Order: sequence, then structure tokens, then C-alpha cells
Amino acid sequence: MLIGLTPNLTHDADNTPRGIGQTHAGMASWASPDVSAECRECVFFQHATERRLADGRLGSARCGKYRQLMRKDGPKIPPHANACRFFDPSPAPPAAYLPKMKV
Ligand code: SF4
Repeated sequence: MLIGLTPNLTHDADNTPRGIGQTHAGMASWASPDVSAECRECVFFQHATERRLADGRLGSARCGKYRQLMRKDGPKIPPHANACRFFDPSPAPPAAYLPKMKV
């Protein structure tokens, strides 16, 4: 779920983060236009169960960095979310899509 501008966020053009429009609730920070990666490629993307949707796409998962900062779990974020400034590349990121094996 993308976050929206609220009265609690400043709307000053100089203060408004550039990635605000791509930021999902549960992310550790604003989506960063300067990071060309997806959350699924980050070590903090908690995909341990590798939950897959029926069509083979990777499911949403929680951000471990959000938990470190907030001391509680946040909402799940989609794997394709634009990464934030805390992005730390995973050595083995899950595939965005895995076709189902026919048996
Ligand atoms: S890039 Fe990493 S730290 Fe930032 S929101 Fe995505 S999973 Fe969390």
C-alpha cells in the first residue's frame, strides 16, 4: 500500500522526499530514486518462507530494517518496491518470478 501525503508531512518542495510517491507503508525509509534496486534484492526483505502467489510471483514480506528501527513489525511490502537508502544487497535474492513445476 503506497503511502500518501498527509497533513503531518511537509509539502515544501525542498523538504519533500523525491521517492515519496513510490514509498509503501512498512518500508524503513522513503523509496530512493537514487537506488536502482527492488526491495526483494535487499538483505532486509524477509522472504524466508518464499511465499509465492498462484502465478509464481514472489509475495509481499516485511522489512527487517523497519523492525530494527521501529521495534515492531510493519505492514508487508511488495517485492518490487523501489529500494530505500538502507538498501543492502542480498547475496542470494529471491527470483521475482518462478514458474510452477509441472509434475
Ligand atoms: S530497501 Fe531494504 S531496508 Fe529499505 S525498505 Fe526495502 S527491504 Fe527495507
